[in-house]
Amino acid sequence: MSESPGPLTEFAIIERFFSTAALSTRTKFIELGIGDDCALMSLPPDRRLAVSIDTLVAGRHFPDDANPEDVGYRALAVAASDLAAMGAEPVAATLALTVPSPDEQWLARFSGGFRTAMEQFGMSLIGGDTTQGPLCITVQVHGLLPRAQGLLRGGARVGDRVVVSGTLGDARAALAGFRGQLDVDSAQYRYLQQRFYRPQPRLRLGQALLSLANGAIDISDGLLADLGHIADRSGVGARIYLDRLPLSDVLHVCTDAEQARHWALTGGDDYELCFTVSEDNLPRLAAVAEQCDIALTPVGEIVDGRGVQVLDAGGRAVAVASYGFQHFAVDGSS
Ligand code: ADP
Ligand code: MG
Repeated sequence: MSESPGPLTEFAIIERFFSTAALSTRTKFIELGIGDDCALMSLPPDRRLAVSIDTLVAGRHFPDDANPEDVGYRALAVAASDLAAMGAEPVAATLALTVPSPDEQWLARFSGGFRTAMEQFGMSLIGGDTTQGPLCITVQVHGLLPRAQGLLRGGARVGDRVVVSGTLGDARAALAGFRGQLDVDSAQYRYLQQRFYRPQPRLRLGQALLSLANGAIDISDGLLADLGHIADRSGVGARIYLDRLPLSDVLHVCTDAEQARHWALTGGDDYELCFTVSEDNLPRLAAVAEQCDIALTPVGEIVDGRGVQVLDAGGRAVAVASYGFQHFAVDGSS
């Protein structure tokens, strides 16, 4: 940030807010962290590297007035969620940070949130880049997978059950809450806020599913869209049953049933996992759910064909429009 005003140079920012001493919580696999031209990682011979990158743009991926701790936490959490969806063990991250000005308070709070997430996920910050411009945060994550394993989107097979972790639709409800469109009390509002700003990448679950699941993805764009990616990549179709979608207690009470299900199906930002398992492996999920302390709910199945079909409680196909559901017209009625 050579053209930046004030005493806080790029070097000082890195030193004060992002140095290895401040942020590194583990040294396993990392030979050299922040401070040189490159970081150096040494990988065990029986593992392969899983790499993913995500960008958050202010005003687009989070509200401009979001608190900096939350922004820092969320930036790492959404990136780490891709490691979870692959079944990878999280190891390290790099951070490309563009800030409008070297605002000490903002940087301290942002790096604090980022550090909290680092420690929680067991990762180290090993490098990055710092520039001046409109607020934008890019995080690359590095994880490890056993050589022959990995949860790919293309692994779903006809007959598999479709399972999701946790509850869906909360982050979408949070957005409505931010816009003042929800009638919630303060505890409910806080719950939804947490679900949006502090998503929990299902890292332990992903690793536990390595030898169990066939196809997997994290739900960043909504179940319907993301299950659609599994179906497309696997060359199969999928069915979801509306009445099986797992909804939180708060979502149940803060809106009507149709809206809640619609948000659960199409709302993004929940960062739960959606995966497919064979009927044979289904009984083994109870132990995984307990071990990972997370609800795992079968919501549908993989079928022959293409695309994702949504069925209501009566088994009727429903069309999902941007504003809600519509029953398909059958024989002229609907
Ligand atoms: P270069 O000019 O080689 O890109 P920089 O001066 O940008 O080097 O960065 C110096 C060191 O600080 C490098 O190790 C880089 O990875 C690290 N670094 C820069 N910005 C950040 C950041 N926001 N978070 C973590 N590490 C950073
Ligand atoms: Mg640089």
